[in-house]
Amino acid sequence: MFLHRETIGRVELAFTDRSGGASDGPWASLNLGTSNGDDPATVSRNLATVTAELGLDRLVRMTQVHGADVAWTHDLGDGEIPVADALFTDEPGVGVLVRVADCTPVVLVGHDHPVAGVVHCGREGLVKGVVPAAVAALRGRGVESIAARVGPRACGRCYELPQEMADAVAEVVPEARSTTSWGTPAIDVGAGVVAQLRELGVDDVTDLGEHDCTIEDERFFSYRRQGQDSGRFGAVAMIRA
Ligand SMILES: [Zn+2]
Repeated sequence: MFLHRETIGRVELAFTDRSGGASDGPWASLNLGTSNGDDPATVSRNLATVTAELGLDRLVRMTQVHGADVAWTHDLGDGEIPVADALFTDEPGVGVLVRVADCTPVVLVGHDHPVAGVVHCGREGLVKGVVPAAVAALRGRGVESIAARVGPRACGRCYELPQEMADAVAEVVPEARSTTSWGTPAIDVGAGVVAQLRELGVDDVTDLGEHDCTIEDERFFSYRRQGQDSGRFGAVAMIRA
């Protein structure tokens, strides 16, 4: 169920994998995606399983749109699901969830304040600067020291793109330029995210997904490997009471 769990001060964070859920077929088994064709009741069970395993009061998710908007759980109404690609919590017991299948999941934690969030960053998010926007949101709340954990995603040797698109990304984030293992243009979104974090002075950066690739490794869901029906794994951040 969990690829990685870690506690940083009062913040706990976790990255999930495919195992330990109730879904079948291409969603087997811990699919956390709610708009990818899986049975909604089964997905609800999977979300409830993660919520219970982490001891959360509730788990807030977002509708991800490859943008750079940041939301906070304390601004949301009962059961509201924000349209955003970064979601923060400063409420004990309220977890935040990012869901991915090839995009890069990022967890950001305030070292000096009990605040934490999750970020969804793919090709578009890298260009639009969703990670810098999330870092700015944390700093806007008085956080000076930030820990970042970058999770599994499509690697730079697999993420093939047409030359023009790869060039457009590299123009904004040069560190993301890559070449596939078969010699065609590619991008490395994870490397781009790490570069953005370092440029912003985030010094505690751990790339947990550096040696993993969602396309190559069946422990993860992958849109490129599985297509439209692929499940979603994710990352959660929460504040302990
Ligand atoms: Zn790969």
